[in-house]
Amino acid sequence: MPMAIQMATTVAAAPAGGRVVTARSENLHQEIQFDLNQPAHRRQGDWSDYLQGVARVLDQEAGPISGAHLLIAGDVPLGSGLSSSASLEVAVASALLGLSEKKLAGRNIALLCQRAENEFAGSRCGIMDQFTACLGRAGHAILLDCRSLDSEYLRVPSSARILVSNTMVKHELASSEYNRRREECEEGVHGLAKRIPGIESLRDVTIEQLEQFGPELDKRVLRRCRHVVTENARTLAGAAALKRGDLAEFGRLMIQSHESLRDDYEVSCKELDIMVELARGVEGVYGSRMTGGGFGGCTVSLVDAVRANEFASTVAAGYFQKTGITPDIYACMASAGASEEIAEELG
Ligand code: ADP
Ligand code: MG
Repeated sequence: MPMAIQMATTVAAAPAGGRVVTARSENLHQEIQFDLNQPAHRRQGDWSDYLQGVARVLDQEAGPISGAHLLIAGDVPLGSGLSSSASLEVAVASALLGLSEKKLAGRNIALLCQRAENEFAGSRCGIMDQFTACLGRAGHAILLDCRSLDSEYLRVPSSARILVSNTMVKHELASSEYNRRREECEEGVHGLAKRIPGIESLRDVTIEQLEQFGPELDKRVLRRCRHVVTENARTLAGAAALKRGDLAEFGRLMIQSHESLRDDYEVSCKELDIMVELARGVEGVYGSRMTGGGFGGCTVSLVDAVRANEFASTVAAGYFQKTGITPDIYACMASAGASEEIAEELG
């Protein structure tokens, strides 16, 4: 259940003639260039992979894409679990499609951006981040079915604020462990399928089935599977709680989610755990959990609106005292994704 926030990546785009794409990132103070008429460069392990990926996937699926000068700048913190990568992809895709006078539905832009990240950046990410960057809606979270892409917008009560706390750390593990977790989950599905015929992913497994057949799995694989299966259940319970305005229950589910990410999925770290514990101790906090791929980056907390300022000062002071690091804390609003913004601009 993601939501888009007000932080954004903006791309200024001008036609370049020919098929050469030149892009400059104001965030990184770097410029890159590639020619769509030439074979793709090998993976570079940097931001050029996203740019090439998006341009080439769009070119194949919706092209031809014309040459362009792109100037990129954003306020999404890079590599902090708030999905600056999806934000970059969707912004670049929207710009290139606009210049080439092509239109695609938001969900298709999201799918192509996901493919760009999978194939060119080598991250086996799902569709959630790109979908949200495209199709987020102001004031709403999205209950997203990542298999069917069915989605339901759930209103976030205005009495609550979403506070994002950045631990300001990023541990080495982050990028490699993501793909490893996917492999472990696939191993779990493979094992469970011997007992539960027809399952394609953990999404098809109930908590009861996992309790029954899980002990036959490798212990670590079982923990990974238990996180996913219980997280799916928590997400549905969270949606029901949000619909009836039960923020206390929603917050309890966030805490359980963090504990599951920490103990079963093992993608948290000391700094994230400290941040969540500090948040839990503040008056008016419903719940708190890490967000994104883990091993650093941000937590997200649901806080009573009248306590938001107090939250920021208390958590920042506590985190500094425990770690010596001053965290960034952002008050976030559920905001429109790129599709709605563009629709608005076009009137
Ligand atoms: P997250 O998506 O959580 O921010 P990722 O590691 O998936 O973390 O993506 C971060 C990467 O995305 C950056 O290291 C950079 O390569 C690229 N990126 C994101 N925003 C920008 C930007 N404005 N300019 C250049 N590269 C960017
Ligand atoms: Mg990312």
